[in-house]
Amino acid sequence: MLKIEHLTKIYGTTAAVDDLSLSIEPGEIYGFIGHNGAGKTTTLKSVAGILNFDNGVITIDGFDIRKNPIEAKKIMAYIPDNPDIYDYMTAIQYLNFVADIYEVSQADREARIKKYGDMFALTEKLANPVNSYSHGMKQKLAIMAALVHDPKLILMDEPFVGLDPSAAFLVKQTMREICDNGGAIFFSTHVLEVAEKLCDKVAIIKNGKLVKSGTMEEVKGDESLEEVFLDMQNAAQAEKDTSLNIEIPKFEEKKRGFWKR
Ligand code: ATP
Repeated sequence: MLKIEHLTKIYGTTAAVDDLSLSIEPGEIYGFIGHNGAGKTTTLKSVAGILNFDNGVITIDGFDIRKNPIEAKKIMAYIPDNPDIYDYMTAIQYLNFVADIYEVSQADREARIKKYGDMFALTEKLANPVNSYSHGMKQKLAIMAALVHDPKLILMDEPFVGLDPSAAFLVKQTMREICDNGGAIFFSTHVLEVAEKLCDKVAIIKNGKLVKSGTMEEVKGDESLEEVFLDMQNAAQAEKDTSLNIEIPKFEEKKRGFWKR
């Protein structure tokens, strides 16, 4: 679904991302873990096709983001850490605007807006202007807008920051549902616990370099990463995400019949 090969992005004399390669398969929630300034946003923006990079190849479902940007962008969505939504529009105008860009049929957009509007308790407020929305409501609206064209790959930059626990739970549930239906999610976090509870696979980035990727068990089993994990744990302690106690079962656990218990 997503293949990043030898991605390098240089600012001035510093490599923000340095020869990074990873791939994500359909059905996977893939966590991208790293401390502040590690290179997560730079990678996500490069994949989203909104940041030019110096070296490497990025393909989304076979479409090269540089050679076939329209085809690649049609099948993905990017939710930045601080979404910029047109403040002067109402929420429903904004959602229709995004749906128009992606040429989503009337029936499909109505069904998706209803589904996610009800889920995020926004349906009653969709006629209100975006500038009347709180930060968390804007984040939920940005997620709805990202889902309106039913993307195969979703990129999310720190998706849980600023969400209350129940909204974070709903977002995690939605992420799982999308991946169980064959989609893939690549999201960044600097909170280890979030990745541990939610992801099928993770990649650790430090100073622009990929230090390890694989299942959480594989990655945690690497003793050379002790220092990285300590950094992460300290970060988690400093910025405790209150939603963390709510667990969403992982794909493997579901396969073992988690839901039947
Ligand atoms: P955070 O968790 O704080 O969001 P991050 O892992 O997303 O961090 P990036 O935003 O990708 O990190 O930044 C990686 C490096 O690139 C940092 O050293 C940052 O200072 C640098 N950088 C990012 N954007 C620019 C820019 N426009 N100009 C110069 N340097 C930049």
